[in-house]
Amino acid sequence: MKVNLLGQTLVQLQELCAQEGFPRFTAKQLCDWLYRKRVDSIDAMTNLSLAQRARLNELAYIGRETPVRCQVSKDGTKKYLFEVGDRAFVEAVYIPEEERATLCVSCQVGCKMGCRFCVTGQQGFHGNLSAGDILNQLFSIPEFEQLTNVVFMGMGEPMDNLDAVLAATEVLTAPWGLGWSPKRITVSTVGILPGLKRFLDESQCHLAVSLHNPVAQERQQMMPVQKAYPLNEVLALLRQYNWSGQRRLSFEYTMFRGLNDDQAHAAKLVEALKGLDCRVNLIRFHESPEAPYKTSLPSTIAAFQNYLNRNGIICTLRASRGQDIDAACGLLAGKE
Ligand code: SF4
Repeated sequence: MKVNLLGQTLVQLQELCAQEGFPRFTAKQLCDWLYRKRVDSIDAMTNLSLAQRARLNELAYIGRETPVRCQVSKDGTKKYLFEVGDRAFVEAVYIPEEERATLCVSCQVGCKMGCRFCVTGQQGFHGNLSAGDILNQLFSIPEFEQLTNVVFMGMGEPMDNLDAVLAATEVLTAPWGLGWSPKRITVSTVGILPGLKRFLDESQCHLAVSLHNPVAQERQQMMPVQKAYPLNEVLALLRQYNWSGQRRLSFEYTMFRGLNDDQAHAAKLVEALKGLDCRVNLIRFHESPEAPYKTSLPSTIAAFQNYLNRNGIICTLRASRGQDIDAACGLLAGKE
């Protein structure tokens, strides 16, 4: 099977070059073509010899795939659909704002986590994306040059496909790759402990933990992962790391009417996060026919936010973007 060059790290390309008897510096040249110049064909790598290009064409390809569809929201958000493999689809969402432009990328086709409020989770799991599939979501959209930030908050659970996610973030941040600051990248998780520990040790990117309910039994009803990896163990792990430096910790908290949005929940949340240098992002739940939940009233959301802010936790309400094209949080379905 041919190797997808897109998503290969410098070390992997050095191994490939060694195996083919190419000079060691060829790996750096490959990085330059793949990640700086972002060519989409091996033949465009003009400082490689013709023999090298011919050999590379035999054993590798550049997995650049243009999106099969783009939907544009009235607020400027764009949802791109990519085909990965055989009739499998994932989505990426481009979110332009005044001073930044963020791409929300997917890391799996579907998801195993089965969060009850999430359209992706209701579809089950259909496979992992490779690092190349993840990077292609950035490289193959016309807005690539405008991107200031990337968030791994699309379809899938990043800690359940961590090798690919770490390889993709390495390409984005390494000097031989795109050279981005890790501060431009946020990786989300529901809290898969083994993956999370490895991520915290090996990456400097920001972390966003999907919390959604501070009460264990209630959280478990919404997020089955709570059973295997309880929130208190996740928080205990997070407390072992330093969050007052460059790397930022945030908690995502979707507001469900009558389920997790009253002052008792706000108080429990404050208690749970006590002493952790973090912020909380509230998200309005986007109702969908597949999920049996309602969104909280604006006044309830404001009261919840005020309670957290008054009690020393920076709390913001995330603007809903792209709701008219089902691009908002929890609505990505990858439907063709
Ligand atoms: Fe998976 Fe995230 Fe959806 Fe949960 S919210 S099912 S982790 S995609």
